[in-house]
Amino acid sequence: MNDAHLLHVTKLRRVLAHAFEHVPYYQDLGVVPPTTGAEILGTLESITPVNKLDIQSDWERFLSTTTAPDSLVIERTSGSTGIPMTCAKTLEERARIMLNTWRWRQAWSPTITGDTIASFHVERSLVVRPQEPGVRGIRDNVMFLSPFDLSDAAVDSLVDAMMYQGVQSIFAWTSVLERIAITLQNAPEKKSALKFQFIENLGEALSRSQRDDIERVLGCRIADHYGCREIYSIARECRGGGRLHVASDNAYVEIFNGDQKLRCGEEGEIVLTSLNQFAMPFIRYRLGDLGKINVDKCSCGNTNPTIEVSGARKSDYLIGPQRRVSVVFLNWQIGQLVRAGYDIVQFRVVQTAIDKFDATFAYRGEHRDQLAETFSRSLREQLGETVVVRCVFVDYLPPLPSGKSPSFVNKHSPT
Ligand SMILES: [Zn+2]
Repeated sequence: MNDAHLLHVTKLRRVLAHAFEHVPYYQDLGVVPPTTGAEILGTLESITPVNKLDIQSDWERFLSTTTAPDSLVIERTSGSTGIPMTCAKTLEERARIMLNTWRWRQAWSPTITGDTIASFHVERSLVVRPQEPGVRGIRDNVMFLSPFDLSDAAVDSLVDAMMYQGVQSIFAWTSVLERIAITLQNAPEKKSALKFQFIENLGEALSRSQRDDIERVLGCRIADHYGCREIYSIARECRGGGRLHVASDNAYVEIFNGDQKLRCGEEGEIVLTSLNQFAMPFIRYRLGDLGKINVDKCSCGNTNPTIEVSGARKSDYLIGPQRRVSVVFLNWQIGQLVRAGYDIVQFRVVQTAIDKFDATFAYRGEHRDQLAETFSRSLREQLGETVVVRCVFVDYLPPLPSGKSPSFVNKHSPT
């Protein structure tokens, strides 16, 4: 058993013991908390995995009774599934998870903490600088940028802002990196002015050809960071071997087919247990992505298992009459509606023409007209005033014939 694995088991035992004592959903399972490392995996395997709908329908019972509600930071996500998920962490938990991510970034780029960084960020609470549209604010050496408007002119002004600030590193989604690369490809003088040290992909799927195209233009390798809003880091790419190693400091990863746990090398649904969260522990949580775990040796020397993800959130765009917007916007906007009190269980948006969108909500709450109007207005504001959004409300939103439940489907695909 190596040191990384021992740390893993120690953390897992602490999380399970806390959940069985202080989190009502797990208290009610009546499981005796494990006391030894040898018992821990057996105890974990006695717990039935939960999905997003299980948690959303019983949310407060997944919160620890020992955490004061006012110390919780609430975040919302829809991931790749179109099921809004509300998660809670304390600031201390967030800091603990991020510390390990910064260590990984330093392994890629030793100077990263002193670099000027362009961090693409969905939160609007940051300062908006009206003279630089899209730039949300600057804190220390980090410039926060909006990932929403990815039209040519908007990306051009983001690139200008990065040049002005002397940005050396970028944290962004594939969709954003792709648009930056296209802009720089068409502007050789800007391309030669920007020298990147580190580029992190924040979790959208990254195909081989997308990676090759972006790396060629930006002149820097992409460090892939597979994660989710629920627990942050799941796996981080190693510089030496170019593979995604499970972030054993933060996540215990299992693969399932239905209720059946699969072995290494078999592809199935990714199921996570968080190792640093006590306020709202995620234990055997079905993320909704597909992948497989490998335990063969990686040339980098890191002995943590590696993961291949095949069904993560795809990078995509909503392209309207006036603007091109990352699909990151859509998931954020649904989160805002949930925050405003609309109890959306599931959603899917289908673009059928450049100015026509069909939105289906699994929603049983009241005020449907207001929900439809608020959502439609947000798409018109982002994509153009002529956009027409047809909203439909259902009890349940079945998967597509492919078996997948994407939150956005583009049936228009303009050239
Ligand atoms: Zn490796």
